[in-house]
Amino acid sequence: MSQLIAKVLMASRAQHLDQLFDYMVPEDIVTSLQIGARVVVPFQGQLNLAYVWELTDHSDFSSLKSVRQLIDSPPLLTRTQYQLIDWLADYYFCSRADVIQLCLPPGAKQTRRDGFRLAASPESIREQLISAGFQEDISQKVYQLLTAATEAQWTRSKWQKEFQALGVIWEWLLRSKLLLPITEIAKPRISSKTIRVYRWNLPALDDRNPAGIRVKNVLLQHPQGMAGPELAAAAEVSAAVIKRLLNQGKIDCSLQKIERIPVGFTPVETDGTHKVQFNPEQQTVLDTFKSSSSRLFLLHGVTGSGKTEVYFEAAAEALRRGLQVLYLVPEIALTPQTLARARNRFGDQVALLHSNMSDGERYDQWFKVKNGQANFLLGARSAVFAPFTKLGLVIVDEEHETTYKQEETPRYHTRRVVEQLSEITGAKAIFGSATPELESFFAAQTGRYQYLELTRRYNDQSLPEVAVVDMREELRNGNRNILSRVLHQSIADNLANNEQVILLLNRRGYATFILCRDCGQVLKCPSCDVALIYHANDKVLRCHYCDYRQKMPDTCPKCHSSRIRYFGHGTQKLEEEMAQNFPQARLIRMDLDSTSKKGAHQEIYQKLVQGEFDILLGTQMIAKGLDLPRVTLVGVITADSSLNLPDFRAAERTFHLLTQVAGRAGRGTKPGRVIFQTYNPAHYALKYAQHHDYLGFYQEELAQRRELSFPPFTELFRFGFSSIRSVKVSAAAEEFCRILREQQAKIATARPHEESGLPQVIEILGPAPALIPKVQDRFRWQILVKAGEPAVLRELVQSTWSLFPFRKFPEVQIFRDRNPYAI
Ligand code: ADP
Ligand code: ZN
Ligand code: ZN
Repeated sequence: MSQLIAKVLMASRAQHLDQLFDYMVPEDIVTSLQIGARVVVPFQGQLNLAYVWELTDHSDFSSLKSVRQLIDSPPLLTRTQYQLIDWLADYYFCSRADVIQLCLPPGAKQTRRDGFRLAASPESIREQLISAGFQEDISQKVYQLLTAATEAQWTRSKWQKEFQALGVIWEWLLRSKLLLPITEIAKPRISSKTIRVYRWNLPALDDRNPAGIRVKNVLLQHPQGMAGPELAAAAEVSAAVIKRLLNQGKIDCSLQKIERIPVGFTPVETDGTHKVQFNPEQQTVLDTFKSSSSRLFLLHGVTGSGKTEVYFEAAAEALRRGLQVLYLVPEIALTPQTLARARNRFGDQVALLHSNMSDGERYDQWFKVKNGQANFLLGARSAVFAPFTKLGLVIVDEEHETTYKQEETPRYHTRRVVEQLSEITGAKAIFGSATPELESFFAAQTGRYQYLELTRRYNDQSLPEVAVVDMREELRNGNRNILSRVLHQSIADNLANNEQVILLLNRRGYATFILCRDCGQVLKCPSCDVALIYHANDKVLRCHYCDYRQKMPDTCPKCHSSRIRYFGHGTQKLEEEMAQNFPQARLIRMDLDSTSKKGAHQEIYQKLVQGEFDILLGTQMIAKGLDLPRVTLVGVITADSSLNLPDFRAAERTFHLLTQVAGRAGRGTKPGRVIFQTYNPAHYALKYAQHHDYLGFYQEELAQRRELSFPPFTELFRFGFSSIRSVKVSAAAEEFCRILREQQAKIATARPHEESGLPQVIEILGPAPALIPKVQDRFRWQILVKAGEPAVLRELVQSTWSLFPFRKFPEVQIFRDRNPYAI
């Protein structure tokens, strides 16, 4: 019989360990060891945690070491997960370890602990020390140390330090192998939660004590067992009684696994009150979806057209066939409503995964998916890495949202990962939005996605009327207020009619900057190159990049003038002004500050659905997904606030946001109205949003992208550089760019023409300081590459990366960002 070899990947994020190492698989675990399992292997004189990546019967190396221990059987990672890991690491130029982190249940990261074992008794060691010529008092001290430590303490670093302090003796003990180094893999931090459950042992057994009789009666009524505290309460006995009965063998105790229930998982009544009746458009979309052999679909439907009902029907179909469904939403803010709808429809099949849950809750949900107990997973971005075993459908709701792009390593885009997941598993995927991202719409136009469309609102309610107010005009007419007169009047009318209002202001905090009237100094974060934002509720200045906080100073730190003033409006100030203007109105503010506490979203959401508000105001969070039928007015305080960002997607972002928020108005029986306030009324993003004209916007924007060679006509790539030393970061970026240009020239001569007619590497932009040149004390630079052809881009990135002298710049961090969003 040939020997089984495991090729393993070390559980380490070190770059040089991103390769497979060969180990022999011992006889006793040959049958239970599977790909994706974790093992302990000896590596460079230590024990390491590793993942089995391949199993083979051949190795190019001789004298292999053996796998020491198998940790999971069945394996922790699923087949799909590690295929995805391999692909993602390659596509996004990161290490597999970076991706594995996302695929594991919380707390699965097991750490190694190094320690020592005694090879002889403390007495014998003392004798040996003395006979080796060490002084008696020192040998005695060692003896005391050795006897004082328990076995467990050998692995503690404090204890090791005490020994290391002994210097020569320590060395001698190691050399003479009286102390043996050992490594342990620490227990996982999180595991399933269990409680003790009690049962009456035999109905024939009796107790003469009245308390014991009560316990018996209660337990006989609960044959499935009861937890200690409940039993004590129901039988009105103390813990001591339970303990006595247990000792006498009259009751039995066993451990039972319980599920930690996330917020929002209140029991639901699936009473089926909501009758689904598809309109002809929905029916056509569903028929096309079901009969089509395509895997990737774009569902383009105006807000309120019934996309969610279509998703649910497609999901129900997959569940009926015994397949799993992944339903992705861009932000937790959306989850309460979608969660409630999903739980109503699919009951206990629904699992939930997002970062605002406790580790224990996530752990339980993760295993419910893995074990196939929950087949409908609702989650944010990272849920795409959940351990599916029979995935049939992925839904990406509001697919145009930027939160689908992860802005730290691995810098993946969820849509791209879903495409790959579909490729691996054969699952169908629906990307849905009222305003598809331009690149997705382009994919549908060019046939990469199959296009599905819903053109009308489900209730046939027309889309709301949008008015644009020129705020320069308001100023000229002497109105310095944050509200234009027409918006002010409309709010008042709405309140009088007992109808609800949504106000969007895409800036949190109170004032957006603090300026000295005398010297013009703007108060900035000491670690980041950005203005500090005043937060009124805790009366502090805060940095929105690093969360630095300081008290509002009384005088200017530069010229000591007391004429320092707040400027700009944030949501807190808007809230204050609304309270002054409309004192009788019930206000709810929704932004990162008001929703960051665990469960806060859920609380706000409860108030929203129960209609306990008159004005809901907040950042872009409120623009998405909320389905509140009594909202008939939407006001956008500054519609052009995101237009001036130096980002080629700025117009698109603005168009999406305005269209989405406008779609919140008039979802019930009464028609809605929308008011955009702006200083830039002529901008095309605003005009198309005003007329709900997606296609018009798409065409104009696409023409610009073509003109400027931006995606989807090219692929964009970003190299980011950061360091606490400003000179180092610019030097590294410049050196990098020099090599990049050299390689570009080389590639261009090697492959002069391609069929596409596009030059292979169109442009290298930079190096230049990033938009915010300093964040958390780190200076940041970047280089952008626009490439016509992915293969050429890959060659360029890889050759430059392999030639760059990283050793010359030890304090500079460099990352690679494929298809970057934050430019
Ligand atoms: P979207 O996701 O496109 O914004 P929704 O699916 O939330 O739209 O639908 C808007 C409203 O219309 C919701 O209240 C929904 O319950 C209702 N609705 C949509 N389609 C149907 C249907 N086929 N039968 C009954 N109600 C529907
Ligand atoms: Zn000043
Ligand atoms: Zn800061």
